Amino acid sequence: MALLPILSYPDPRLRTIAAPVKEVNAEIKTLISNMIETMYDADGIGLAASQVDRHIQLIVMDLSENKDKPVVFINPKVTPLVEEKQPYEEGCLSVPDVYDKVERPNKVRIEALDAEGNAIDEIAEGLLAVCIQHEMDHLNGVIFVDYLSRLKQTRARDKVKKVLKIREKQNDKSVASQSETINV
Ligand code: ZN
Repeated sequence: MALLPILSYPDPRLRTIAAPVKEVNAEIKTLISNMIETMYDADGIGLAASQVDRHIQLIVMDLSENKDKPVVFINPKVTPLVEEKQPYEEGCLSVPDVYDKVERPNKVRIEALDAEGNAIDEIAEGLLAVCIQHEMDHLNGVIFVDYLSRLKQTRARDKVKKVLKIREKQNDKSVASQSETINV
């Protein structure tokens, strides 16, 4: 397994629209393993292939407390089941150290395939609903800061620049977040 470099906002490659996965072959399985390892290493709870510059519809996630239950969503389709939106403090491995509230429907249906090609069809609420929508956005070239004001987007850009500089100096990717909120 190997750690993959994570693209940082505002890298234009993060705007690429992901294509469906045609076949879960050995190459995709290796990518899944590497993405899971990369997610754990970065202290994240979710990672979309777009964030590691692979523009296919693939998401890994682990919302378990002990970080021992990774889940894989291939070619996911997410349908909101409620109109009402709720705010949740989001973070993103591609926008390090930036956290802000985003409003999303808090109940969705997720249809996808897992790493073995089995169909997933589940109703998600709470954190899972937030995460899957955040990751779906990545596959569509959308980043959570897009929902924020211009001013906050500019600040986010400056903050990411600073964080990347510090990381470069310390040569330590885990400089990180004091926040307890999610990184996805
Ligand atoms: Zn993200």
